[in-house]
Amino acid sequence: MNGAAVTSSMIFGGPRRYVQGPGALEQLGALSERFATRPLVIVDADVLPFVSATLDRALTGRASTVLPFRGEVTFAAIDALVAAGKDAGADVVMGLGGGKGLDAAKATALRLDLPYVAIPSIASNDSPTGRSMAIYDDSHVMVAVEVIPDNPLLVLVDTALIANAPARFLRTGMGDAIAKKFEAERAYADRATNFFDGYPTLTAMAIADCCYRTLREHGEAAMAAAERHEPDAAFEAVVEANVLMSGLSWESGGLSYAHAVVRGLVKARGAAMAPHGDHVAYGTLVQLAIEGRDDAAVLDLMGWCRAVGLPGSLAELGMSDPTAGEIAEIARLTTIGPKGGKILVKASPDAIAAAITRVERLAALETV
Ligand SMILES: [Zn+2]
Repeated sequence: MNGAAVTSSMIFGGPRRYVQGPGALEQLGALSERFATRPLVIVDADVLPFVSATLDRALTGRASTVLPFRGEVTFAAIDALVAAGKDAGADVVMGLGGGKGLDAAKATALRLDLPYVAIPSIASNDSPTGRSMAIYDDSHVMVAVEVIPDNPLLVLVDTALIANAPARFLRTGMGDAIAKKFEAERAYADRATNFFDGYPTLTAMAIADCCYRTLREHGEAAMAAAERHEPDAAFEAVVEANVLMSGLSWESGGLSYAHAVVRGLVKARGAAMAPHGDHVAYGTLVQLAIEGRDDAAVLDLMGWCRAVGLPGSLAELGMSDPTAGEIAEIARLTTIGPKGGKILVKASPDAIAAAITRVERLAALETV
């Protein structure tokens, strides 16, 4: 064993408590009684009409301040929220909404050095349980990723609220989550460190595996429930996979090619504006090809993606008839991570381009 292996530890982290179920928002008062006497609640403005009465009930008797949030999570917007939080003498910051409301609240909690509570209104990605947030400028260009020191004290997932949202959010959350088993296993095999700068535990690996099995077993039924806006057992299982299992797998397991390919897809003609989870789903197919898995394995996952409405090809992401040059550019960008990035990319641009080309060939076979 070399020195690095002896001194390197495994690290597993996560929220202190996770609560999920239809009507769970009603429990916010009881669940936060011990630590929230003066909560600052930052709520996505579009969601506020659906939750304001429940928030009033749940936080009755507290000196709570509820602020609607709209627009980009910019440094200026965060400064305004921080000032409001100081004026209110807040002792905890709660975020309620989609990605923007949660990230705005997380950034405010970081600056006020307060604990953070996440209440997602959609299950479209893995971020509610995690510590990082993205900050943008006014023209929707990401300018920074910041990290709060501790995971949320509480992640509260009201599945009645989440079932109210358009079904496409659940679908793209499944795309973000389906990758996690393959990414955690790749990171584990490559001895990559996770987002706590430690090595993944077997616990994280088991969660990543369960995330995958849950989506394969319940994904289609959950989409049907999402279309009906009626949470059922399949919907509950997939929300847990999209939010809790996917989040723990990402932060305590690790990411790999499926997310690295997204760096190219966000700049690709036609595909750039597709939702994050749609990019990741396609990236997962590319990862299987990079790993040299056989055609049956790639086609099996591609079939599931298409069955739930996720893309199986670049054309399905919005990039029709990609040229060899465009594929080479996606592959090149896949290998270029941000400074201090945690995704280990060992494959060469040529190998990645060949994998994308192979996925495209298999996707064409399947549609004939
Ligand atoms: Zn992701």
